[in-house]
Amino acid sequence: MAQDVVDVVIVGAGPTGLTLAAQLRAFGVGFRIVDRQLDRVHESRALAMQPRTLEVLRGLGFAQALVQRGNDALRLQMHFGARVVGMPLFDVGLEDTAYPFLLFISQAETEAIMNEHLLAHGIAVERGVELLAFSASREEILCTLRLHDGTTEQVRARYLVGCDGAHSSVRRGAGIPFEGAAYPQTFALGDVEIDGELEQAAAHAFVGPQGLLLFFPLGRPTTWRVMGMRPPPRDQAGREPEADELSLADLQAICDAFTDGTLRLRDPAWLSYFRLQHRQAVRYRNGPVFLAGDAAHVHSPAGAQGMNTGIQDAWNLGWKLALVTRERANAALLDSYEPERLPVGRFVLRFSDRASSIAISESRLVRLLRTQLAPRILPLLLRFARGRAFGFRTISQLGISYRTSPAVEEGRPRLGSGPRAGDRLPDLRIERDGRECWLHEALTPLAFQLLLCGPAEWSTDDDARLPKHYGALVAVHRLAGEAAPGVLHDPNGSVLTRLGAKQPAQYLVRPDGHIGFRSGATDLRAAESYLERWLRAPSTP
Ligand SMILES: Cc1cc2nc3c(=O)[nH]c(=O)nc-3n(C[C@H](O)[C@H](O)[C@H](O)COP(=O)(O)OP(=O)(O)OC[C@H]3O[C@@H](n4cnc5c(N)ncnc54)[C@H](O)[C@@H]3O)c2cc1C
Repeated sequence: MAQDVVDVVIVGAGPTGLTLAAQLRAFGVGFRIVDRQLDRVHESRALAMQPRTLEVLRGLGFAQALVQRGNDALRLQMHFGARVVGMPLFDVGLEDTAYPFLLFISQAETEAIMNEHLLAHGIAVERGVELLAFSASREEILCTLRLHDGTTEQVRARYLVGCDGAHSSVRRGAGIPFEGAAYPQTFALGDVEIDGELEQAAAHAFVGPQGLLLFFPLGRPTTWRVMGMRPPPRDQAGREPEADELSLADLQAICDAFTDGTLRLRDPAWLSYFRLQHRQAVRYRNGPVFLAGDAAHVHSPAGAQGMNTGIQDAWNLGWKLALVTRERANAALLDSYEPERLPVGRFVLRFSDRASSIAISESRLVRLLRTQLAPRILPLLLRFARGRAFGFRTISQLGISYRTSPAVEEGRPRLGSGPRAGDRLPDLRIERDGRECWLHEALTPLAFQLLLCGPAEWSTDDDARLPKHYGALVAVHRLAGEAAPGVLHDPNGSVLTRLGAKQPAQYLVRPDGHIGFRSGATDLRAAESYLERWLRAPSTP
């Protein structure tokens, strides 16, 4: 292949494209990232980051900055008339993650941190550069870019990734249908200042028969983000008119209907009506062209899943593209992207659709559930850590699993308990060389990790053989109840129990933190053949 072929072209520098860029950089892959906008997003848009996203971004070195610049101690106050139920969005009873909270941080801030990280590593997004068209052959993709000065440039690439949002030109060019529809309702959104009693250390949801009104503490550019549903001003045929300009008076009227006029809105920085869509690409790949983020799925913001799902699409695709372009993995590894991520997108669409139906449905039964049942059940559920964890686990995205993927395998003898092949490796407290730390922290980032667990007499050859063959791409760790130099130590046995490793067990964890292979065998033959199927040894000069 000619020298001037770039390995990957990323179109779109929102959170999805930036995550992919950071990962490709970490693996040393050559790529270009272009965005037609001259500047990054300055509107807040997504406000919440899920625990699993923070775990993923820790692997890329962002998590600490995000936690420092975000709010990890927010409560949600649910107002059912005069009755207020407080719901912490931290301390939610999740014990298998270093991030047991919903982090409130604006998308603008998240993108700023990601851009700073890339710049610190000498990578700048090419701004004012738009993908106009592309054509793909078996060997390469020819992309036509329009530069800021109006000239065009032809770029040859091995892979093209559309992280270019809901109106993706990559999706269109790849001929991938985007199936779904728009919600009939219109929503109103405003970044405003508020006079009146509204506790600032909390987000607020006012629940009424007519739906839900939300207040999020923003900080910048204004103190509050308000979001609610526009009351249906239907025409004579019962249709809603097209969304027009939202005025402060309109937003105030929506607000008054829920708060009895106790809150006065003023000094808006942003007012907008918007319609929500629920759509998903029917495929996430067409040959060397991939889709990720909003280009692949859009849905209601209920449950704060959209940006998080996009970041995790990129996390799933990035290491696969990196290993394949660096000739360290077989191209078949890329075939696992769609079967792993498309079902996640489908679940998010269904989940956010149900959540928004509960919030806005006009059906009598749902209104009853929202206004009468919820204020009674919620306090009971929240009283216990298990109840909080139950509610939070799904939205935290920690439970995402790829059990049916072609790139994961249960070995024999089968382990009777513990996380299965395809599941995320839980993060738990262990000791290493006498110091307490998280299991994920103790593992080598961006590599396959073989965890040899429990009481077996693993051969010392095992520790050395795989890294010798695969180099830094495979690391071997031991996890045991007895302390020894270099061993991951589980002093009270709870980690081994969680991994179903009272008996010997081996877990081969992929670079994205999901279990690729596991078994109860005490030799490594099956693990080695799993690796052989996907990976290649570094070529000798
Ligand atoms: C009001 C609101 C609230 C939300 N709240 C949440 C929330 O709480 N939690 C959550 O997870 N999500 C939330 N979301 C969704 C979230 O904002 C999106 O899911 C997220 O921005 C998607 O990121 P992305 O990188 O995939 O796409 P985008 O952020 O849309 O980025 C796409 C980029 O591609 C560029 N581009 C497009 N076409 C081209 C082209 N041809 N050539 C070059 N560049 C191109 C665009 O300029 C853009 O910068 C919310 C969205 C809205 C509107």
